Amino acid sequence: MECYDVAVIGAGPAGMMATITASCAGNRVALIERNPIVGRKLLATGNGRCNLTNRNVTADRYHGANTTFIQTVLDAFDHNATMRFFEDLGLLLKEEEDGRIFPRTNQASSVVEALRQELQMNKVCVMLDAQVKTIGHSAAWEISLVDGTNVITETLIIATGGRAAHHFGSTGDGLYWVEKLGHTLTPIHAALVPLETVETWPKDCQGVKAEARVLATDGGKKIGESSGDMLFTNYGVSGPAVMSLAGTIAPLLPTCQVVLHIDLFPDITQKQLSEIISRNTQNRSMEDGLVGIIPNTLIPVVLKLAGTERQPTAIAVTLKDLTLTVSQLRRLKEAQVTAGGIDTAEIDPFTLESKLVPGLRFAGEIMDVDGDSGGFNLQWAWSSGHAAGTIIR
Ligand SMILES: Cc1cc2nc3c(=O)[nH]c(=O)nc-3n(C[C@H](O)[C@H](O)[C@H](O)COP(=O)(O)OP(=O)(O)OC[C@H]3O[C@@H](n4cnc5c(N)ncnc54)[C@H](O)[C@@H]3O)c2cc1C
Repeated sequence: MECYDVAVIGAGPAGMMATITASCAGNRVALIERNPIVGRKLLATGNGRCNLTNRNVTADRYHGANTTFIQTVLDAFDHNATMRFFEDLGLLLKEEEDGRIFPRTNQASSVVEALRQELQMNKVCVMLDAQVKTIGHSAAWEISLVDGTNVITETLIIATGGRAAHHFGSTGDGLYWVEKLGHTLTPIHAALVPLETVETWPKDCQGVKAEARVLATDGGKKIGESSGDMLFTNYGVSGPAVMSLAGTIAPLLPTCQVVLHIDLFPDITQKQLSEIISRNTQNRSMEDGLVGIIPNTLIPVVLKLAGTERQPTAIAVTLKDLTLTVSQLRRLKEAQVTAGGIDTAEIDPFTLESKLVPGLRFAGEIMDVDGDSGGFNLQWAWSSGHAAGTIIR
């Protein structure tokens, strides 16, 4: 049996930040992780480059029932504090478009390694290949691992993530434990996830990438809008512009018919596009003229969607408003983040301590908070990890 001041379950970004903060304050800390390495999911973020925060972090880039709660946590350790924290660890950073911050090495592994070294320097007991089976509470917390080891601690921080991309370790264990301890969970669904469509034509142009503006409607009424990269796939659509609408669409899907309107030329008007197509097809067939305007595999698809009217105006109308009906979201396994989680009304926003169970704190995606694409989810992990780990004895 091993005794600590603080035990943190989950060595994701939130758990590692909580551990570093608590150990810097002089606490004896154990960090317990089921994977053989720390930061397994973090390594996969930003396509392996780790978009670790964003210069434009504000509470309105987050979703969850309690905006004031989110704002309070972000204010206490904001993106500037995050950038200073990583620079102090020796990590050079760089800014890309839309305020997105990456390590200058372009490697998520640099972020993970910087955190790992800091854990080591702070003499944290990092327990790897250590899957927590049960947690119990009497005078102190007793954590039982699958291999039979028991860990005793005064303060327990649960940072086990949500249920998204569970192959990286976040299988939802923490959500199960906290519900057993009396906490309320808000409905859980995938956010930042690709969308399946009723129409099958995306399969005919799968692999085509575009920079688009995507408008989501329900019964003709706008419910969301997003711009950026998107991708046609064999099941529907993917890419940041589409995935960022998933959180808004998910709760509506069982009852509503959500239609996506995709504008493949958001920077020019329909009239301008029509004139470009006219010019390009003056002495050529429509197929040949479109070659320089849209990717090859998209040409037959667009011509078919435009119907019998092979006129520049009809093609321009189609390209500015490709419509697709959403049938369902892809599974949580393919999602970047989980929407829903522990009801934040039951958590103190300054310490992230449970209002129901003393000595229990939370950090990261396990709470009912999810952010937009662009570094916002990792900022939530850093901010909430810092608040949870601020334990002065
Ligand atoms: C492919 C992908 C790309 C992404 N890219 C970005 C990006 O560029 N920028 C951004 O801001 N966000 C990104 N995200 C989202 C971001 O990674 C998450 O929001 C963030 O990792 C959540 O941090 P967390 O510490 O709360 O949980 P997690 O990172 O999920 O960590 C939880 C940890 O708890 C461990 N654990 C769970 N149960 C147990 C148990 N029973 N015993 C022991 N350990 C346990 C898990 O193994 C895991 O290591 C991406 C997500 C994915 C899937």
